[in-house]
Amino acid sequence: MKIIDIAVGVLAKGYVCNHCLGRQFAQLLSGHSNEERGKAVRTVVGFAIDSGETVKIDDVNVSELNFRNVKMKSKKIPVCKVCDGIFDTVPKKGDKVIENLKEYEFDTILVGARLSKKLIEKEEELWEECGTEFCESIKSELSRALGQYITAKMKKDMDRQRSHITVVYDFEEDDSEIDVNSFFIYGIYKKQKRGIPQTKWPCSKCRGLGCDSCDWTGKQYKETVEELIAAPVLEASGGVNSKFHGAGREDIDALNLCGREFVLEIQEPVKRSVDLKKLEKEINKVNKGKVSVEKLETCEKKKIVELKDKKADKVYMATVELDSAVTKADLKKLETLKGKVIKQQTPLRVSHRRADIVRERKVIDISAEFVDSKNINVKVKGEAGLYIKELVSSDDGRTKPSVSSVLGVGAKVVTLDVIQIE
Ligand SMILES: [Zn+2]
Ligand SMILES: [Zn+2]
Repeated sequence: MKIIDIAVGVLAKGYVCNHCLGRQFAQLLSGHSNEERGKAVRTVVGFAIDSGETVKIDDVNVSELNFRNVKMKSKKIPVCKVCDGIFDTVPKKGDKVIENLKEYEFDTILVGARLSKKLIEKEEELWEECGTEFCESIKSELSRALGQYITAKMKKDMDRQRSHITVVYDFEEDDSEIDVNSFFIYGIYKKQKRGIPQTKWPCSKCRGLGCDSCDWTGKQYKETVEELIAAPVLEASGGVNSKFHGAGREDIDALNLCGREFVLEIQEPVKRSVDLKKLEKEINKVNKGKVSVEKLETCEKKKIVELKDKKADKVYMATVELDSAVTKADLKKLETLKGKVIKQQTPLRVSHRRADIVRERKVIDISAEFVDSKNINVKVKGEAGLYIKELVSSDDGRTKPSVSSVLGVGAKVVTLDVIQIE
């Protein structure tokens, strides 16, 4: 099909603006806007008419051209039958969006347009009438036009993959939806106090709704590693919420003295250029004796997956209470656990939230220190995911073998600390 035939199809009935005309040729020649393409095609149609060719279009589409040979009545240009003149509204809508974006700090933005069904149908009708194969959709052009207007005026960059802000302008509702994307901070935390879970746990009585026993907080534990670290960051960034992504977690009652990697996600931040050095100091000051952080730096979202994929071996130190006396020599027996693959049926303490399965994890190294006949310290280097408390106690025979089964006495972990993560 010839270009001119497509153009005639578009212009046959009613007025079509340069955007909508040019859009039917959007895939031809780069370096031109659709408006420029439309203008060019309309001019060519005008040449044809002025040369005396019979071109069956609606006159209104060429009434602004200055013909030499043909007499053309000048007509008042009506609104475009396809887009209803929507492209002329871009600056006004763009300014409205810019006004709404004022409070946010960002560098990159993605802008999209949402259109009424009616408008999209009108375009589809036009495609049928003209039979173009080179078109772009009105939605795509309008999104781009609005995006270009906003980024140029605000001096920001357009980013499809990792924009700080996503704006969707709904042309039917005449309103914008602003989506402020999270920003991510990587760091390492240590925990110096027992009894603090890594992330929020809903109250076991009310399941998070709030009750007397949780003081209407809905939380089982007053403090979490997440909240202690996030509070100063939320304050500094004006973020609405946070999410904590740790490279694994230690037990609530375990210390973590060697440091664990994490990514803190700050949702809907107003400010992004937070001073991480200053924040690090502040976090460590207000949480002294509980939680500390180091090496804070901004990171990409994909860092979370990296952390989750990391399966680190860990070294634990457990103080263990025995229910019958053992001798120093008995502790030698524990060497049989070295290099052993341990079968662990899901521990009773987590069985309410995990599937009941048997997992196999290796004890890479184990050694014990005699404190007295009923108290020993056990140092274990275990494969990621090894349940240490159960390795010691046997969890009613659900973990095999165990410190308890090897020593032939009941054994219980009193304190448990992660001392190294590899
Ligand atoms: Zn139009
Ligand atoms: Zn409660």
